Amino acid sequence: MTLFHKIIRREIPADIVYEDEHLIAFRDIAPQAPVHVLFVPKETIPSLDAARPEHAELVGRLALAAAEYARQEGFAEDGYRIVMNCNGHGGQTVYQMHLHLLAGAPLGRFGTP
Ligand code: 5GP
Repeated sequence: MTLFHKIIRREIPADIVYEDEHLIAFRDIAPQAPVHVLFVPKETIPSLDAARPEHAELVGRLALAAAEYARQEGFAEDGYRIVMNCNGHGGQTVYQMHLHLLAGAPLGRFGTP
């Protein structure tokens, strides 16, 4: 079980900003932008690499939940970035698939320091 599962089960506290039957969203503990929210499916899927065609809807739900959150919070028009790190070279540290939503300031060109 990952720490994200423990957040889903309310065994570890988190600043939860959205939840439905499929997924949960909470603020990252070490934000990399003024807004940094993680969107995590409730079904156990260790990484995007472990996702299968039957997970297509769930992967889409993560992205659409992030987009809806951005609209509701009023920064969709200014813009934002979504990122999914996968496995070691992708920088994944928590092995429950999740999508990062980064926003709140110009983020610079992707891949530049
Ligand atoms: P990854 O590196 O796997 O793509 O992303 C994992 C994210 O989880 C990191 O951005 C990290 O800051 C965040 N994180 C690690 N531990 C905790 C925690 O206990 N609570 C919350 N809210 N975020 C965490």
